[in-house]
Amino acid sequence: MANVAEPTVKVHFLGGLGEIGRNCMVLEQEGRLLVIDAGLMFPEPSMYGIDLILPDFAWLKERADRVDGIVLTHGHEDHTGALRYLLRDVSAPLYGAPLTIGFARHRLTEAKMDKNCTFVEVRDNERVRIGAFDVEFIPVTHSVPSAHAIAIHTPIGIVFHSGDFKLDLMPIDGRRTDVARLAALGDAGVTLMMADSTNAEEPGFTASESTVGVTLRRLFLERPNRRLVVACFASHLHRIQQILDIARDQERKVVLLGRSMEANTKLGRRLKLLNTEGIAFIDTTNLDRYPPGEVLVICTGSQGEPMSALSKLARADDRFFRVGPDDTVILSSHPIPGNEWSVGRVIDDLHRLGAEVIHSGREAVHASGHARQGELRTLHQLIRPKFFVPIHGEYRHMVHHADLATSMGQDPKRIWICEDGDVLEVSSRNVRRAGTIPAGYHYIDGDGGDLDDTPLADRRMLAEHGALLVSAGIEKKSGQIKSPVTVVPRGWFEGDRDRDLVAAAVKEVTQALEEALKSDVRDADDLNRIARRALGRLVGQRFRRQPVLMSSIVVF
Ligand SMILES: [Zn+2]
Ligand SMILES: [Zn+2]
Repeated sequence: MANVAEPTVKVHFLGGLGEIGRNCMVLEQEGRLLVIDAGLMFPEPSMYGIDLILPDFAWLKERADRVDGIVLTHGHEDHTGALRYLLRDVSAPLYGAPLTIGFARHRLTEAKMDKNCTFVEVRDNERVRIGAFDVEFIPVTHSVPSAHAIAIHTPIGIVFHSGDFKLDLMPIDGRRTDVARLAALGDAGVTLMMADSTNAEEPGFTASESTVGVTLRRLFLERPNRRLVVACFASHLHRIQQILDIARDQERKVVLLGRSMEANTKLGRRLKLLNTEGIAFIDTTNLDRYPPGEVLVICTGSQGEPMSALSKLARADDRFFRVGPDDTVILSSHPIPGNEWSVGRVIDDLHRLGAEVIHSGREAVHASGHARQGELRTLHQLIRPKFFVPIHGEYRHMVHHADLATSMGQDPKRIWICEDGDVLEVSSRNVRRAGTIPAGYHYIDGDGGDLDDTPLADRRMLAEHGALLVSAGIEKKSGQIKSPVTVVPRGWFEGDRDRDLVAAAVKEVTQALEEALKSDVRDADDLNRIARRALGRLVGQRFRRQPVLMSSIVVF
């Protein structure tokens, strides 16, 4: 019989399981809570007007007084981008590498929220007591410097979280994934491992970041007389470092374009993670003073973000810098799922301006930050966990990661495929599902603020089916329609067909209202409902559409 007092750790998955983005989970030990990452996700094109998608923090908000800390594995937006929303309701210290904290602090400062935040910088391999939790930060390689895997030493044994990682043996900064420590943790006995599944479908090993520099150097060399514009993530300091190194060697002046590019390189320099010695930086306003072959522009916007520097260049929307036939634009990136369409638009627009465009579909100008199967196998071999939960991926990625674990000898009964909202209760000997918590999408609509699903459903209906507005004025005493029924369509047809629709709709609604008035219906709400129902029936039957219906039937 299991001892009733057997210690357990609960894991609450708030995001990142079943999607790439909004990574967030909460560990619970002895009633205390530890948050690991709080990320955002970018919307699909069908999410009209939505700027960001966050985890639903409602569950966490109700337990805000029990949160001991927020641990950040690394500085990417899909792990830190929701902090400014989480910290509205939960005030707990943030833990992470100096760069990770630096990125987070910068975003919180922008949101004017940094004043009440406690930032705790941790060093590689440091073990920190965070309230009830004993947390160790293990260096891993990824597409941002200073990424960490997390080992939480608990009464049920070690809980291991890989963070986002790859096993890059030739990283730009020489800081490799600490495989020796991973092996030592494995030897000590890891009860639960949760690991990155992004590339679990991909065989082999992810190319080292340093191979990208080799490709870029060749491309630059082949184009001595062309102006070069390289777009990459502003957080990817190692990519930026390689581009700067080549610029230095080729004596090109460098322009940094985009607010986050400027801010992040400044932070990188301050933390000595970026070496800009001997680089001649210039301003866009001076760009035209130099022949194309003597300048290099590094900019943001490799994901086609509409407000970014690259999108502005593609739209010929920058005051000082026009991209043209003398330019080669390199997108040193790969579109995040959901961004393919916007990236495609940017590439098209750049072609329209006559520029040469090189992207990851043409040359190896990008290396993923995530482990492929070979590296995942290595991790499983090092950690040899008792229980395994694939995380950080779309559903198929997690299934493939589970299969991979099985093929490495993991008992399938000890692999748990979870989704957002699932809760697992883990003891040293057992895992059980412990219900679910709310974990739906939480939408952010620019200045409009937070949204749930309802307005978005309306927006979809508006986009797909248009809208109809019906109005009329009814005299209460006589029960007569005094100002006749009018119907205004939006987003329907052109010309005659719209007129046909309106005529049919007016007839249908007038009839329905007259019938109701004959039966002495005088209540405005009732009459509005009757009008909308008549309208809905007509367009549903005759046009097979479900538009947004609005009515203004006034009774006076
Ligand atoms: Zn990442
Ligand atoms: Zn990630």
